[in-house]
Amino acid sequence: MASLPSTPGQKSANGDGAYPLTVNNLSSLVSYNEHPAGVSINSRVSLPKGALFTPITTSTPAPAKRWSTVQTSKDSQIELNSALLYMNHSCAPSLEVDAKEMVVRVSRERDLKAGDDLTFFYPSTEWEFDAPFECLCAEKGCVGKVRGAKFIEGKDAQRWWFNEHIQGLMKERDGHGKN
Ligand SMILES: [Zn+2]
Repeated sequence: MASLPSTPGQKSANGDGAYPLTVNNLSSLVSYNEHPAGVSINSRVSLPKGALFTPITTSTPAPAKRWSTVQTSKDSQIELNSALLYMNHSCAPSLEVDAKEMVVRVSRERDLKAGDDLTFFYPSTEWEFDAPFECLCAEKGCVGKVRGAKFIEGKDAQRWWFNEHIQGLMKERDGHGKN
């Protein structure tokens, strides 16, 4: 969740991310990538589409939504407390964050290769951003302004995998009632 523009202070003084890669046991999976726009993370491993990337083991419940949190249900969110915080948003992401199973998986759309940027589709967990931001992924079919799943409708809603709580909120929005 680190690409939000109005989010100062997520970098430590030495330019690495704020979290040692030993946190959440990421040392063999992730490397930090420092660049002028901030910090991102890259994969150290190659895995087939849909494979488990890592369980999320160091998260804690968060009292309120903020730039660093990941939404886990209609009214709850977590802090990742690890380098996973530096997964950026992409409209053609390399990873999926499953907030129900509490795992990060390789995208079901494509294999993951060592060196790939580690990204996920933020609206797959987030219903509505307080601070929408322009997506710079330059992928075909980019959503443009990332405002949250609330604003992804119709055919667009079929293009990505969404967490169960987001699917539920979409059904409510679209008037399908309870399932
Ligand atoms: Zn995009």
